[in-house]
Amino acid sequence: MNGGAGTIWRWLDKAPDAVAVTGSDGQVTYRELYRRVEDLAAVLRGHGVGPEAPVGLCVERTTGMLVAMLAVWTAGGAYVPLDPAFPAERLRMMRHDAGIGLVLTQAGVDPALLEGVPTVLTLSPGGRPVNGAPRSPAQVPAMSPDVDRLAYLMFTSGSTGRPKGVAVPRRAVANLLEAFADLLPIGPEDRWLAVTTLSFDISVLELLLPLYTGGRVVIAATAEVSDGWALRERAAAEGVTIMQATPAGWRILLESGGIPATIRTRLCGGEALPRDLADALLADGAELWNVYGPTETTVWSTAGRVRPGPEAVDLGSPIGRTSVHLLNENGTPVADGEIGELHIGGAGVARGYHGLPAQTAARFLPDPYADTPGARMYATGDLARITRAGRLEYLGRADQQVKIHGFRIELGEIEAVLRAADEVKDAAVAVRDGHLVAYLVPRAQAVDWAVLRERLRASLPDYMIPVRHTTLTSLPLTPNGKLDRAALPTPSWTRPGTAAFRAPATAVESDLAEIWAGVLGATEPIGADDDFFELGGHSLAATQIIARVQARYGLEVPIITLFEHPTIAGFAARLDDMDDADLSLTDVAALRDQLDGLSAEELQGLFDDLAAGS
Ligand code: AMP
Repeated sequence: MNGGAGTIWRWLDKAPDAVAVTGSDGQVTYRELYRRVEDLAAVLRGHGVGPEAPVGLCVERTTGMLVAMLAVWTAGGAYVPLDPAFPAERLRMMRHDAGIGLVLTQAGVDPALLEGVPTVLTLSPGGRPVNGAPRSPAQVPAMSPDVDRLAYLMFTSGSTGRPKGVAVPRRAVANLLEAFADLLPIGPEDRWLAVTTLSFDISVLELLLPLYTGGRVVIAATAEVSDGWALRERAAAEGVTIMQATPAGWRILLESGGIPATIRTRLCGGEALPRDLADALLADGAELWNVYGPTETTVWSTAGRVRPGPEAVDLGSPIGRTSVHLLNENGTPVADGEIGELHIGGAGVARGYHGLPAQTAARFLPDPYADTPGARMYATGDLARITRAGRLEYLGRADQQVKIHGFRIELGEIEAVLRAADEVKDAAVAVRDGHLVAYLVPRAQAVDWAVLRERLRASLPDYMIPVRHTTLTSLPLTPNGKLDRAALPTPSWTRPGTAAFRAPATAVESDLAEIWAGVLGATEPIGADDDFFELGGHSLAATQIIARVQARYGLEVPIITLFEHPTIAGFAARLDDMDDADLSLTDVAALRDQLDGLSAEELQGLFDDLAAGS
């Protein structure tokens, strides 16, 4: 990749007028993209951005997001994603730890998130600076590409209670791009729908590989990424041929009408790929890849083409100049069939955790299998084994790191915030039925969960907030005095209790309460004023609810309606407003119930009568 942005431009001379990127703000050719990147890089250099300088990106999902990322590299710096969906306190902590003095942002981002940043440059949706007059670029020499330079700092959940920044060099990104350009059937005809937030490293592949191979990146807007119907429309309008998502992401598309048939190449990663999902993704004969890897070894470290069949999906083989070793706790390779911890070496290994030498030393170990002296391998904490058929099989984690809808979470980080509260003597967090549950041991006074949750919200992203909690007199311990997570009870489903229970009043409200309960796994009645998110709602559950509402009432309901009206009563009122037919929603639902009860002959008779009458 020649120093980060270098060979991204190998298509610039071959096809300067081909479209490189499209976004909600329009499309940009290779020639124009290059110009915008050079212009912004000059501005950044004028502001003192040079080798290794960290630059925060707190931007919207427009073509300008890609311009910003490439411009930081061209100026010699490293970008640090600052997700505008994160709380201000978390962003402040990340900026502090990364040593960020300059942030690129856009008009739609809340300026309060960037309070105290010495220099904030606002970009247009297309990536042109709209403030901060550029200093003369001519006086500041362009940076020569250097593969050893830092590409980005990617913050990930930290078990000590603070997120940690993984420092990834450009050579690791180059290894990824070269490997996937060889592996995938991808070329100038391809259009890749980019759906991942910048703060998840897999965005690097979907934003850069299309440019590296002469194709087109289609950047889905923020409003589209959790709306399967909007994504489908976008994919159809842009003729998208390739996409990468987590299992949760693919399920959202499947639940909202299916994967667009034009998407012939599908990458699934970030979490184990269950066979039922693999089968659904393979059903129309598309090409499916299971991709695996931690942020610490740069996006993906192994990839395997998934074929139809009964066996569990495996992790495939190491990509590019990457090596994988299955070792026991003494660091010795395990025999085939035995369980070991995956250790990853080679060109994808990051430098370590920024500013955290002890944590780096604990996980980035000397690599005895490497040819280069001083090389490191990363101890992933992932357990795996080689099956009799010679496949690499994923078996789960050796520690307390979990994934919820593709998001990586250290339970210890949530526990640290809970324990910091005065009224909490001790706390634990576990995953039960796919949800985070908090276990609290209160001090003298009772814990007010609503207040505590607000405190969590101030420093943790939404996906790290437990949806349920329960109070214990003490935490269960193992014989050697450690927390016995397996012995933590599974609390029965309870209403969050922030809104007083009010029974659904209309037929539509009752219908909705039943649909919500089914999707959210509620075992108690849901009240008309209960909030979808407080009940544990997330994008996939929202998709399932909307799909069921559409089927029940025959109405096209945008998913945003649920996000904007998250109570049963509020959502029901919006549905009534949307329904402009003569029949009320209740009549439509009742009619459907009656039709469902008719036999094929009775239905035919009804149609014949209707046809005769018309
Ligand atoms: P992240 O750093 O967010 O990419 O998370 C990395 C972790 O996600 C890995 O260490 C695994 O535990 C898990 N992971 C990623 N991809 C897969 C996959 N294809 N199958 C199973 N687990 C995966």
